Order: sequence, then structure tokens, then C-alpha cells
Amino acid sequence: MMDSSAGISLNAKIGALTDKHLAAATELRRAIHAHPEIGFEETETAAAVARFLSPFGLEVRRDVGGEGITALLRGGGCGQAAGTAMEPRRVIGLRADLDALAVTEETGLPFASRIPGKMHACGHDMHAAVLAGAAAVLCELREELRGDIKFLFQPAEETASRPVPGVDPFKVFQRGKTGAQLMIEAGALEDPKVDAIVGLHCWPDLPTGTVGVDPRTAMAGNGVLRVRVLGKGGHGATPHHTIDPVPIAASMILALQTMVSRYNDPADPLVLSITTIHAGTAVNVIPEQAEFQATIRSVKPGYIEGEVSERAVAMVRGIAAAYGAQVDVTCGAGLPVTVNDPPLVRRSLESIEAVLGSGRTVTLDALAMTSEDFAYFAQLVPCVYLKLGVAAPDGCMPLHNPRFAPDEGALAVGIKALVRLAVDLCGDGLTS
Ligand SMILES: [Zn+2]
Ligand SMILES: [Zn+2]
Repeated sequence: MMDSSAGISLNAKIGALTDKHLAAATELRRAIHAHPEIGFEETETAAAVARFLSPFGLEVRRDVGGEGITALLRGGGCGQAAGTAMEPRRVIGLRADLDALAVTEETGLPFASRIPGKMHACGHDMHAAVLAGAAAVLCELREELRGDIKFLFQPAEETASRPVPGVDPFKVFQRGKTGAQLMIEAGALEDPKVDAIVGLHCWPDLPTGTVGVDPRTAMAGNGVLRVRVLGKGGHGATPHHTIDPVPIAASMILALQTMVSRYNDPADPLVLSITTIHAGTAVNVIPEQAEFQATIRSVKPGYIEGEVSERAVAMVRGIAAAYGAQVDVTCGAGLPVTVNDPPLVRRSLESIEAVLGSGRTVTLDALAMTSEDFAYFAQLVPCVYLKLGVAAPDGCMPLHNPRFAPDEGALAVGIKALVRLAVDLCGDGLTS
């Protein structure tokens, strides 16, 4: 850590520089919010971020894994602490995601989405603006940095279970890559190699002014179960001439609930939610097929694609056989678990309290069963994933809700937290 006099002066500089760049960061956020683009379509969003970054003298790379951007800031400070042996300069990665969701906005905000059916309902517009604002501030603190900072603006986070075109997802479990995977494949963590990475997400459960940090598991892993029951259709009045797939699917759905309540160890949280179901076209016709899908969440690595998948598939096949129906069923893992690095968690708590004030961090004890493709970065590099409080005093609607409206006051909080943490991690953060 810096000594206290240096810390005070650094915090004062961070505060003043955040004030200086806040209006531009807010403008960027509102522009992105009004023109949401969903995964793999973030052309204008990436262009807006690149325009924002252009005056600051960063080494910017565009089209890194789709619409991804990396921007490198080379610190001007000494690469190692005085009196110590030469060490390679540290490179700290800071990551934001850019994509919106297929949701129609109902906030009524003056800068609400102008595109029907698309909305920044997960706050990625806020993430992009916090990171862009932090980049502006850190560029002005270049001489204070004893390492380098790599800013990663990532597309296509909300695509974890996206099927592969041309592949029947009920027959072959295969899924498309996410933005994080594509950026990693495009070398985003290399040249120079990133030594630690920080992610951040709007968190409606926490009040504005606070930042939550999980001691270990920041986000659950997820998986997908897909089932298509193949029966025999016919007249609704003569069920005895058919194999009705609807009650068979209903039996499967109820039986699958026992995966959580009877099969799983209660000490290890597991979620299995049936989220889509489709059958039939007319009220007097028994359909040929019924389909449903489930999302599965767990924090135990390998559990979903292992035991959970085997048991769920066996259960579905057994029920289909009992009723004389055929079934296509696939089950497999989506995103891995996001696991925080304990030394980075400790440094985050210290750095963020130093800049925001004591009591402004929240150590989160309850597991989050949501998932994040940031997990792919976390598998390769020590990480910490921060949860930025965005609830105004009258509360905040949940993520993915059409009325989700994070408190914009959180922008300055997020910028200050990221900047101070980045400065500290460049210095001594990885050896604490
Ligand atoms: Zn989301
Ligand atoms: Zn999100």
C-alpha cells in the first residue's frame, strides 16, 4: 500500500479527475443506452467507445474477437519498487462488456432505448462508461503508474447458450463461443501478457456508493438441458389413438424438480429452472412433439456436465420409454464458475475503502447463482469481480427487467474504485 500522505493526495487527484471526466462518461453511457446493440452486433457501441478513447494516447486495437476493443496504457512510473530487484512490469486488465438484451424497455427515461425489442437491461452501458471514464482518469495519472493497464471492451457476453447455426440443439449439445472466448482467442490477454484482471457488474441489491466483493465464488457456472418429446399426434377427442407428448413433457418437468430437492446435496446449491416450453398449434389437435429447455446453475466445477447431466438425461429417457415415446435430449455445460483470487479480493477491499471511504465495501456472503463469461478470463488470469451498487434510496428493479434503471450516481463510484484499484495493483497488489 501507499503511505497515507501519498494515499490522500492520490485520492484527491482521482476525485478531481473523475469530476473532470464524469460528464463525458455520462454522455457516453446515455448514447449507448439509447442505441442498444445485442451480442455480435455492437458496431456502433464499439465505435462510440473508440471515439471516446481516441484523445488519450492509448494503444487501441479494434475488432479483437468481433467488435472487441483493447486499449493499452503504458504507465510512466518506475517498473519496480525502489531498492528491489528488477521485476517485469505488471499489466493489469480491466474489462467491461458492451452488449444489450432482447428486451423492450419500459423505464420511460429520456435516454431510453430507441430500438424496440432491445435494451441495456443488464447495465452493460454503465460498465462501458465506467471503464471508459476510468481510462480517461488513468491516462492523466500515467506518471503514477508503476505498471501498464489494458482496457478490454468485450462484445457478446449475453450469449452463453447460443446454439450453433445448422446444429439441432436437441440432438447435439454444442454452443457458440462467447465474446470473452473470442477475445482470448484473438490474443486480448497477450502482448503484453495480462497478469491480473478486474471485472465489474451493476448490482441492484446494493446501494449506490458501495461496492460488493465475493470472498471466493463471484458467479455460478451454468448449463442447459434441452428436451424434445416425439409422440404421435391425432384428434384431441381420441387420445387413445395417439402418444400425447404434452403429459409426457409435464411428467418430465415435475420429475426434474427432484434433481434439486432429492438428488442434490442440500449443502451445494443447484438451480434447475424450466424456462421454455412449446407444444401444439390448435385446441383440437394432439401435437406430434413437445419441447422444453432448462437452465442449470451450480458453483461446483464439473458438476453440471457430469453427474447432473447424466442423471437428468437418464430420467428423461426413462420417462419417455415408460410412455412409449421417443425423445431427443441434450445436456451440457455453458459458462464456468467465476472464482475470485483471495489476494486480489483483499487488495480490492483495501483500495476501494481507501478511495471511497470506510464502510463502502460489502463482503458478499450469499452465493450469486447468475453466471458471467468473465469466467473465461478468470480461468487464465487471477481475477476479482466487483459488484457495483446501483440502487437509489427508493430501490432498483432487478437485472434483465424492462424497468431496470441503475442509479447514474454509481458511475463516479465505479470509476474511482477501478482507478484506485488499478493504481494499487500496478504497484504491489499481486504479492500481498
Ligand atoms: Zn445479463
Ligand atoms: Zn450483465
